[in-house]
Amino acid sequence: MTIKKTFITEELDRLKREGLYTNIPVIAGPQGAWVEIEGKKYLSCCSNNYLGFCNDPALIEAVKKYVDKWGVGPGAVRTIAGTLDLHLELEKKLAEFKGTEAAMVVQSGFCANLAAIPPLVSKGDLIFSDELNHASIIDGCRLSRAEIVRFKHADPENLDAQLAKYDNVNCHKLVISDGVFSMDGDIAPLPALVEVAEKHGAMIMVDDAHGEGVLGRGGRGIVDHFNLHGRVDVEVGTLSKAFGVVGGFVAGDAELVDYIRQKARPNLFSSAMTVPDIGANLAALEELSRSEDRVKRLWENGRYLKKGLKDMGFNIGHSETPITPVIIGEATEAKKFSARLFEEGVFAGAITFPTVPMGTARIRVMVSAAHTKEDLNFALQKFQLVGEEMKIISSSR
Ligand SMILES: *Cc1c(COP(=O)(O)O)cnc(C)c1O
Repeated sequence: MTIKKTFITEELDRLKREGLYTNIPVIAGPQGAWVEIEGKKYLSCCSNNYLGFCNDPALIEAVKKYVDKWGVGPGAVRTIAGTLDLHLELEKKLAEFKGTEAAMVVQSGFCANLAAIPPLVSKGDLIFSDELNHASIIDGCRLSRAEIVRFKHADPENLDAQLAKYDNVNCHKLVISDGVFSMDGDIAPLPALVEVAEKHGAMIMVDDAHGEGVLGRGGRGIVDHFNLHGRVDVEVGTLSKAFGVVGGFVAGDAELVDYIRQKARPNLFSSAMTVPDIGANLAALEELSRSEDRVKRLWENGRYLKKGLKDMGFNIGHSETPITPVIIGEATEAKKFSARLFEEGVFAGAITFPTVPMGTARIRVMVSAAHTKEDLNFALQKFQLVGEEMKIISSSR
């Protein structure tokens, strides 16, 4: 192993030298508005726990109930060991919630992209992908071996121009976009993208990971938000963000989902979701279907925090969702800002190049329905303190 190992040691050293090595904070206890790290409480402003479901009593109760009756494991991949009736129940309820004919669940949102894309396009076909699409979309596209054409971010005119170049090429064409772009919080112009895809006879797929439980009526997602039911061929979603659990799904018309089930390798060669995951997701769906309160609180919290930060003079970009980027500029400054916040009891990481463009390093603040007004005021007070101290905003009057 000695020869082979040299490059590993060298690369780890390089990462550490260049400040790119990731040290992951250890959370003792549940994810929530506040988290415990090394014996101290921090206000969490960086999780995707949008609705506070990660530690919700209804979800915990449900898990206990389901585990008592169904045990924990799925046994194997569904096509070999059989599918639990619970998987089918979750799929049926998800389809109802999303307003599609059918849905198929897989282990994560990442897997859902690997499941959905390769069956639809392969060598000789074309994918038109927003240049800022999520890594799991990019990996799903690469796995398919189709040619990938990138279109300008959230730009239907550019998509139109790219598609037009291939109008006389006869192959499968698939347009793919994130629903909500997680670094800036902007929403894909889906109605225009759908129109352009229809015009050129291309299929369209949206990955609604950050829109699930956030956009649309009661968190039904981006298709509901724009009232595009029936016009988006493939919807990919995650159960790991607003749903507070883990898992992913592919939703669409019954035939499409049937086809994906038959072809998707994460479904054929990787074991199904566990019982606790299914149970907790069923409970989250039930809570979401029962009341829109959580979703409303999330948006209220987002608006409150944004207004506060903006009034202080921070550059908060152009987010259209509760995701709130606080743009600092240089990576070293953003990291320092995040470190000072941490000392002050606020856990909010810095996001730097290459995740965001050079010179736009930021603190991405993720609000949650679990945050109270006092929590948000605490965050605002600390942002003001550190912002003034680092001269990113001018001192308060
Ligand atoms: C987070 C995210 C995923 C991955 O979802 P997981 O369930 O965490 O695997 C996929 N796509 C997009 C757009 C995401 O933001």
